[in-house]
Amino acid sequence: MAESLNLRAGIGMTSARTRGRMVERLREQGIKDEIVLAAMGAVPRHLFVDQALESRAYEDTALPIGFGQTISNPYTVARMAELARHGEASQGHELGRVLEIGLGCGYQAAVLGRLAREVVSLERIAALVGKTRQRLRELRVNNVKPKHGDGMAGAKDFAPFDAIVIAAAFAEVPHGLLAQLGDGGRLVMPLGNATQTLCVFERQGDQFTERRLEGVKFVPLLPGVA
Ligand code: SAH
Repeated sequence: MAESLNLRAGIGMTSARTRGRMVERLREQGIKDEIVLAAMGAVPRHLFVDQALESRAYEDTALPIGFGQTISNPYTVARMAELARHGEASQGHELGRVLEIGLGCGYQAAVLGRLAREVVSLERIAALVGKTRQRLRELRVNNVKPKHGDGMAGAKDFAPFDAIVIAAAFAEVPHGLLAQLGDGGRLVMPLGNATQTLCVFERQGDQFTERRLEGVKFVPLLPGVA
């Protein structure tokens, strides 16, 4: 990275105060879980995007992260985190191991890392894995494990997961992923192609319930690695 993240850490538009305003907006938008709100308030989103985009990091907008990919808007990141923690329960669950599919710039993984003991995050683009691994190291996010691989297959070696969060859209739940959920676990993903709906699948024993929530817009989940 050209500029040390430490130097970029606390300036002007990107200070904790700006992040505090973002958290207030998330509250108004309907995010209720204080633990999720605290995580959103703690992770320096501006350090996950290019410096040229830094002043827009706390707007409620998706931003490009290179390689034709985007980081989701803060509301969507918070919403998915809340769903990963709650499922059908009103009180959130503490999360042990979480699987993220679509590491991207690592922002969502860092947020999830504040809600879970450990996050394994798969990314199909090798160059993005390298860049993001270095960023997470500099920011001392130690409980997120970036892995290069095709998320469609999940991460059997690390299963079962308390939650699986897929940050890219697909027409159906990738085969085999539901089996990697632990009992009571939840899988959150955007389902669909052109029109996408945020969905939560929750496991109770060998039964799965499915809930379809609001419309969303994600980049597609693609097969294979690059
Ligand atoms: N959570 C990310 C958002 C990334 S956008 C963040 O906070 O930045 C979605 C990401 O999913 C992209 O980086 C894309 O390369 C990745 N992706 C798409 N298909 C994938 C697959 N089959 N396996 C792993 N990653 C995939």
